[in-house]
Amino acid sequence: MHCPFCRHADTRVIDSRTAEDGSAIRRRRQCPSCGRRFSTVETSSLTVVKRSGATEPFSRDKVVAGVRKACQGRPVSDDDLALLAQQVEETLRSSGAAQIDAHEIGLAILGPLRQLDEVAYLRFASVYSSFSSLKDFEEAIAILRAERADRGPAGQDDGLTDGSADLGPAGEVEQAPTH
Ligand SMILES: [Zn+2]
Repeated sequence: MHCPFCRHADTRVIDSRTAEDGSAIRRRRQCPSCGRRFSTVETSSLTVVKRSGATEPFSRDKVVAGVRKACQGRPVSDDDLALLAQQVEETLRSSGAAQIDAHEIGLAILGPLRQLDEVAYLRFASVYSSFSSLKDFEEAIAILRAERADRGPAGQDDGLTDGSADLGPAGEVEQAPTH
């Protein structure tokens, strides 16, 4: 490994530590030429297989970019998105597979996104699961409502009140006669 300061061709490992969850190894290195120290983090590579069959390294940035669209106008911060991407990566890595389908990333996003913001979740799920009719939305909303009922009365400040306000039009559809 080259020294990032003076580009010396070799560096010495002076300390090596495994992350608590075992997913990474952090090494402290020192350059024998300029004497400066720096750290490297070693993780197993996680390869994503796209629908086309092409592969690319897993990227948290891409997760954030994908979810950000669904979060437009919602009270979701960059920190929230970064944390979500981290949760998604942890979920995928915990499967132990070195190679995953792009489809599995979407699936791993749904859970944490639902915790984060139900409206963003519905938007994302509608694209990811290719909702083709209002019925698909009705079913997804019915599941959210049922699970919310399980959790007891909506909290005072859990953001759900906002969500249901935004869901207004879809809520009306739910009461429309079905055939
Ligand atoms: Zn150096």
